Amino acid sequence: MIRGFYIGRFQPYHDGHHSVVERIAEEVDELVVGIGSADQSHTSSDPFTAGERIMMITKSLVDLDLVTYPVPIEDLNRNSVWVSHVKSMSPDFDVAYSNNPLVVQLFEEAGVEVRGSKMFNREVLEGTEVRERMIAGDDWASLVPDPVVEVVEETGGIQRIQRIARSDSNG
Ligand code: ATP
Ligand code: MG
Repeated sequence: MIRGFYIGRFQPYHDGHHSVVERIAEEVDELVVGIGSADQSHTSSDPFTAGERIMMITKSLVDLDLVTYPVPIEDLNRNSVWVSHVKSMSPDFDVAYSNNPLVVQLFEEAGVEVRGSKMFNREVLEGTEVRERMIAGDDWASLVPDPVVEVVEETGGIQRIQRIARSDSNG
């Protein structure tokens, strides 16, 4: 039995994240999905709450043959003890998946096995791009799994991010 760990902010969970999880699912039996910056929401860069992101991830992974545990991880802003912080919130895991250099460095220093995950269509499959399209009223739905569209609609996410973006630009 192998349990993996994969962390992101998932603002929102998009097709790039989903491709990574599908690849990981070929190698592990169970996966902890760490929801980073869990305490952040209602900003242009972090519009969705941890609870909303749990919904996106749980509904998107329901058809995968993989036991998944979404675990909210609050920001600590203290990199030297970040791995301990993660471990304090997460089920035990055997291997961490990441392509983020800081995350790789911190896990390796703590003696955790890290496996790289390749990039999928990064030109458009990027949270920043999805959020910019949401604000501009452009097509964002084609970049995320269908259940994410439902969650964003259920939570009034488009109206929220558009209004927040206006207040940002008006100071
Ligand atoms: P943002 O623009 O908000 O930072 P993001 O797309 O980078 O959004 P994160 O939540 O920061 O999303 O990503 C979590 C992890 O998933 C990161 O390690 C990131 O490199 C990885 N990731 C993001 N997009 C892709 C993609 N298209 N293919 C593979 N990995 C990805
Ligand atoms: Mg990122």
